Amino acid sequence: MNTRDKTIEIAFADEATAVAARESDQDAKLPNAIGSKKNLFDLDRVRLEDFFEQVLGEKRYRAHQVMKWIHHRYVTDFGEMTDLGKTLRAKLELHAEVRAPIVILDQASTDGTHKWLLGMDPKNAIEAVFIPDKGRGTLCVSSQVGCALNCQFCSTGTQGFNRNLTTAEIIGQVWVAARHLGNVPHQRRKLTNVVMMGMGEPLMNFDNVVRAMSIMRDDLGYGLANKRVTLSTAGMVPMIDRLGEESDVSLAVSLHAANDELRSELVPLNKKYPIEELMAACQRYVQRKPRSSITFEYTMMKGVNDQPQHARQLARLMRQFDNAVQMKDAAKVNLIPFNPFPGTRFERSTEEDIRAFQKLLLDARILTMVRRTRGGDIDAACGQLKGQVMDRTRRQADFRKKLQAQGATDAAA
Ligand code: SF4
Repeated sequence: MNTRDKTIEIAFADEATAVAARESDQDAKLPNAIGSKKNLFDLDRVRLEDFFEQVLGEKRYRAHQVMKWIHHRYVTDFGEMTDLGKTLRAKLELHAEVRAPIVILDQASTDGTHKWLLGMDPKNAIEAVFIPDKGRGTLCVSSQVGCALNCQFCSTGTQGFNRNLTTAEIIGQVWVAARHLGNVPHQRRKLTNVVMMGMGEPLMNFDNVVRAMSIMRDDLGYGLANKRVTLSTAGMVPMIDRLGEESDVSLAVSLHAANDELRSELVPLNKKYPIEELMAACQRYVQRKPRSSITFEYTMMKGVNDQPQHARQLARLMRQFDNAVQMKDAAKVNLIPFNPFPGTRFERSTEEDIRAFQKLLLDARILTMVRRTRGGDIDAACGQLKGQVMDRTRRQADFRKKLQAQGATDAAA
């Protein structure tokens, strides 16, 4: 069976059934059921060294051996870590575990994109997507179960919000994908880039995300260069500054409109942190890191933000940014054709309008790419991720009511 070319179903007809059917299995793996064992996926290099020294009474370098077993060889059973002595293995069994997310559903698109539905606890599941391309393979990773921000063009936003993911649950997505791909860090690797662009606003889960990104970039983890790990934010201004202080990753900003009135409608967070404040934070981020750039994501919605006047506004904003940081091409624009989902009021811009929009920006000397839609046949395209969220807000229920009113309940179920 060619896994690239066909959907792999793990004996379940649909995602909701899958989650329910696995609940009893997951119950056995909950933290309560395994007492106080530490999940080693939660620990970056320094914390793992501390754990070895302070909890196990071992030399710090032993942590390096275990990291290689986990992240390079995908081994989770301490009994198989053959270069560790018997006594150490017994101590690890007593105090630790390596617990990966449960793969509930594993789907391959006809274009090579791969999506995993991963169980995080008995009630919640998130999605991660791998997108292979010429010479690179990018994993889109989730940071929260659902999202509190409610961007109007995003399927995740309609699901409401449950909780932040732990470091283990974030790096666990990378581990599942890397193991599936047979990724060999530092050699001919298939997973070359990670984007924190899946479900959730990563800067609202700052500590866990930063710790997971440090494992992604660690040679004992996945060995990715700073510029190959990208965090995408809807514009959490104070946390952009903190990210600049604590991490060196690439930054992407979900912009989608170049004026406050429209952006506040599409991205409600804009009411709190308007464009001027957002651009000033982006400026500070770039100035901390010479030669870095920021990618501004712009989802193209028919008749909403895709007209020539919008392109001209965007070009002005991007030029101001380049001038402010005194660097050519500090601002890059990624145009994303809108990916529809059941119940949305938006439509994708026409190919013609997207090309005309891009030309206006290119003529203004703004580096502008159009992102190809990938994984649309398995709902894995940008803005389509939804997982399974036990919503703690009213949003999911409200959205379902709206769908019912439209007679589209089946499509949303
Ligand atoms: S676009 Fe990102 S920040 Fe906005 S609702 Fe979707 S997941 Fe949340």
